[in-house]
Amino acid sequence: MDEAYSIGLGNNDTITRKRASQDYIKFWEEEASKLHWFEKWDKILDWNPPFAKWFVNGKINASYNALDIVVQKNPQKNALLWEGENGERRTLTYGELLNYVCKAANSLKSIGVKKGDRVTIYLPMIPELVVSLLACARIGAIHTVIFSGFSSQSIRDRIYDSKSKVIITADGGFRHGTVVKLKQAIDEAISDFDFVENVLVYAHAKIPITLGKKDKIWADLINNASEYCEPEKLDSVHPLYILYTSGTTGKPKGVLHGTGGYLVHLYSTFKWVFDIRESDIYFCTADIGWVTGHSYVVYGPLMHGATQVMYEGALVFPTPARIWDLIERYKVTILYTTPTALRMFMKYGDSLPNSKDLSSLRLLGTVGEPINPKVWKWYFQVIGKINCPIVDTWWQTETGGMMISPVPGLETISLKPGSATMSLPGISVDVVDENGNTLPSGTKGYLVVKNPWPGMLLSLWEDDEKYKTVYWSKYKTMYYSGDYAIKDKDGYFWMLGRADDVLKVAGHRLGTAEIESGFVSHKSIAEAAACGIPHDVKGESIIVFLVLKEGVTPSKQLEDELIQHIRKMVSPIATPVQLYIVSKLPKTRSGKIMRRLLKAVANNENIGDVSTLEDESAVDEIQAIFNELRQTIQRNQIK
Ligand code: ATP
Ligand code: MG
Repeated sequence: MDEAYSIGLGNNDTITRKRASQDYIKFWEEEASKLHWFEKWDKILDWNPPFAKWFVNGKINASYNALDIVVQKNPQKNALLWEGENGERRTLTYGELLNYVCKAANSLKSIGVKKGDRVTIYLPMIPELVVSLLACARIGAIHTVIFSGFSSQSIRDRIYDSKSKVIITADGGFRHGTVVKLKQAIDEAISDFDFVENVLVYAHAKIPITLGKKDKIWADLINNASEYCEPEKLDSVHPLYILYTSGTTGKPKGVLHGTGGYLVHLYSTFKWVFDIRESDIYFCTADIGWVTGHSYVVYGPLMHGATQVMYEGALVFPTPARIWDLIERYKVTILYTTPTALRMFMKYGDSLPNSKDLSSLRLLGTVGEPINPKVWKWYFQVIGKINCPIVDTWWQTETGGMMISPVPGLETISLKPGSATMSLPGISVDVVDENGNTLPSGTKGYLVVKNPWPGMLLSLWEDDEKYKTVYWSKYKTMYYSGDYAIKDKDGYFWMLGRADDVLKVAGHRLGTAEIESGFVSHKSIAEAAACGIPHDVKGESIIVFLVLKEGVTPSKQLEDELIQHIRKMVSPIATPVQLYIVSKLPKTRSGKIMRRLLKAVANNENIGDVSTLEDESAVDEIQAIFNELRQTIQRNQIK
């Protein structure tokens, strides 16, 4: 934990943090003044716990801030450098993007979409996805993006929940070399939904589709739409979007975000964390189907006039070097990705990244899960060549934007592999006990946010009660994140996993991340997932599922070695009663390990909502292991 790397970008802004700590409300007002408002707010914050209204009565438009402001300065600046999985390429300048967004906004208007209407967007990672979000934002329609990998049943539930009037989709998208039939999935999902009035179809994969009476061809509408669309002057708290969480811990929640506060949060955090400069080529690998894509592919970067690489398909297709090819080809300077993706890249070894020119990189980021220290070091050494700071950014769909992260755009601090460092200016995150008391450093507890922050969710879509119960019932005046964490003596936060997954072994509490990182630090292990099963004496005992690195074969000797390793690296208390070698772990479609499924299968319980599960065969494999075990136990009992 104490290993520190001091690498910064030479920025030394001591004023921002100081201002933020003196008066966070005033501080956010100063930040808000950096955006374009049609009318200024008359109150900075209306805090009626647990509901926050930021910049009350201010009038703003997200698409205006993301496009027009940049176009006024430099319409020729490249916004998107897009590459399809099949190698197709497109470049859009800010001027072209604004024009396209205006036409799309006018197209939506022409089919009757009005302010406050919901529009579901189910598109692959193509420029039209960015255009669709911004077109909704321009006219005040509430977008609700569904990741294009979801099946028709998952789409159905989400469209039903949001009662979208219009759906924007494509004939198909490319992923892992196959065509995903998106229009067909929509047809199956909405056949009996009368509230859906129109489906707009963009021809991307150029595959045959069936057109019904609700369907409209995107190009037909766009070609007939007029060139300019006046942006709606929207109230700061006007809902910008609904987005369902990843579903790692249960049924996804429909998070509702507003406009003004959300944009301010993104504008500032994007600048502080990525230290964005005019010449940067930024590449965030997240799909816009997730909050990372909303905040740090669409709104954050565009408000800063950033040029970014947007890639449609799988990062390891057609070869595992695709990601490194993209970085080399576009001379990417900032890369923002996930620990899951990094573990996958690592599995293929160092020779692939080493064979490419990655020297353009200057800053690396990660989000989504705790990053194992070993993976952090690999990212730092093999990808960043010891030259690039790593920003490990902790945040959630609900927080809208980053909350804990190093801020190289402001200051140089020592980085510790595996720690997201400290809260951002104006954000007060803490680790507390069951009663909400701040814990001393070195003591594990629950991660909370003590003050309202501009990017915070407005509520859950049409479910204020659930909003109160999930986030505001454990502690009445603090936001409960559901994550388990520890603050070290230097004030650095270490994420230990989900609070629901904490293991209670012989009076000790262990976060899943502690055990898993211990295993991942072994040379033979690619991935690990820990969970608990009831134990009469100890309370719980630990079982661990492991994916071995390519070429490693399981053996009793390896198991013994792994047990010794974990005893040494973490603690003898962390010794699992059983290790299970599997070929893959169950993950959400956003790439996070679904420990609750492992636990449910191991404890013979109902596995609950699996609508966001990436690959069911991962659960089947684990189920088969346990069926086998249960049969063995039964046979032994019969004997
Ligand atoms: P659900 O809420 O439906 O279970 P989810 O929590 O996975 O889904 P997201 O909002 O996409 O949905 O993920 C937020 C969570 O991801 C955080 O609560 C945290 O557990 C994890 N996370 C995100 N970034 C980091 C990080 N840098 N370090 C550790 N954990 C992180
Ligand atoms: Mg969550």
